[in-house]
Amino acid sequence: MAEKIPPLKTGLDWSGYESHGSFGGFDSFGSFGESEAAAPAPSGSGGFAKAAAVCAGKRHCHNTDKGVMCPSYRVTRDDIHSTHHRASTLKAALDGEYGAHPFAGPELAAAMDLCVSCKGCKSECPHGVDMAQLRIETLAQRWKARGGVPLRERMFAYTPRFAMHLKQLNWMNSVRQRIPLIAKSMERWLGIAAKRSLPKAAARDFLASAPQAVHVPENAREVVLLVDTFSNHLDPQIAQAALEVLQAAGYTVHIAQPAAGERPLCCGRTFLSNGLIDEARAEATRLLDALTPFAERGFPVIGLEPSCLLMLRDEYHAMGLGERVATLAKSAVLLEEFLAREHAAKRLELALKPMAKKLLVHGHCHQKAFGAMEAMRKVLALVPELQLEFIESSCCGMAGSFGMEAEHYEVSMQMGELALLPQVRAANADTLLIANGTSCRHQIRDGAAREAQHLAQVLRLALV
Ligand code: SF4
Ligand code: SF4
Repeated sequence: MAEKIPPLKTGLDWSGYESHGSFGGFDSFGSFGESEAAAPAPSGSGGFAKAAAVCAGKRHCHNTDKGVMCPSYRVTRDDIHSTHHRASTLKAALDGEYGAHPFAGPELAAAMDLCVSCKGCKSECPHGVDMAQLRIETLAQRWKARGGVPLRERMFAYTPRFAMHLKQLNWMNSVRQRIPLIAKSMERWLGIAAKRSLPKAAARDFLASAPQAVHVPENAREVVLLVDTFSNHLDPQIAQAALEVLQAAGYTVHIAQPAAGERPLCCGRTFLSNGLIDEARAEATRLLDALTPFAERGFPVIGLEPSCLLMLRDEYHAMGLGERVATLAKSAVLLEEFLAREHAAKRLELALKPMAKKLLVHGHCHQKAFGAMEAMRKVLALVPELQLEFIESSCCGMAGSFGMEAEHYEVSMQMGELALLPQVRAANADTLLIANGTSCRHQIRDGAAREAQHLAQVLRLALV
């Protein structure tokens, strides 16, 4: 028998769903037909319950031909790992079907277990079920119900806080890779898959040598480069390439910096993905403080890591951050979106030399969900003689920390094997590879022993 669950205090702001009856917040997906009405929302829990009830149950999330949705269903072919099952389990939980304290119990945890937060459903489900965001709230409620966040999840979430020390740990990573017993112990004690390589930090952070003050000439075309944790500490060559490409195109580039004496800026993605909403909000507030003055002057804020930059246009709206979010969201663009937009407006002055090479492109799930792949295509087409091929892939399987978690390693590799990894392995050694996501490059390195680059690096190679 259903029990009454106590009123929920949600960590995210779900009020956007309240005015939509049982419908979601994504009007662009059209209205519901008679045969595809959304389920009635459970009473209580406000917009959160209504967001779960957006699912109409017709199971388009079982399609596996094109697109991204739903990677976990694609590998398991089991409804219990589909968007539909996750939405109906959450709805049942909020209806009290799993007792008065469903967030501490096993049903929701099992339903959400293989969700990689790819946002495929947000863009491909006809009703725009946003399971990635529902999963964040579910995780946050779980940690609250259980009285704490497990050590591994805290470690992944807090990566930006200790990323500056990662280079001192590179030696430990190489020892771990050479001595399987150490990797096995880490798996046992921390839950990090022994078969995974760990990220290697660069010897020098990008921001340590980035220009602090920028000379602004008259009639300058000013932009802001947002260097995320990963581009700063793991792949500073990507941030450097983006800086050089933007400068070569004649832009005056401000590097987003924290207030004096503060730690580097961070969008909050790793916190949010692990259900630490308050910590993510604190990071987002610092980022807003730093970027709002630029956004108010109309400067584009250009990002490199899809899941970081796109958070400014997506989850920031649900984090109770106030009105500044709207201004920043309008300015936030990925490098490829910015360049494509400038080119379309006939403002892009970027001289690129021919590259008679084949280039294989893997899109990050969030690039696909936000329609940024067309911009990738347009920008790469500016390089003469480059032969482009886009891999028809779903999620790479790494998905932030998902593929590093011991219990998810096998399924993570299966996701990669669906399309991405076989195509990368089949590519000639001189074929260039692009993957703009840090996790995607990690998966390609582990699963196909190849190094992929960011779009910025390929453009820099093509600079005249
Ligand atoms: S999640 Fe979307 S596609 Fe899947 S059953 Fe629900 S409404 Fe249909
Ligand atoms: S976010 Fe991705 S993995 Fe999760 S339910 Fe949606 S499509 Fe599936």
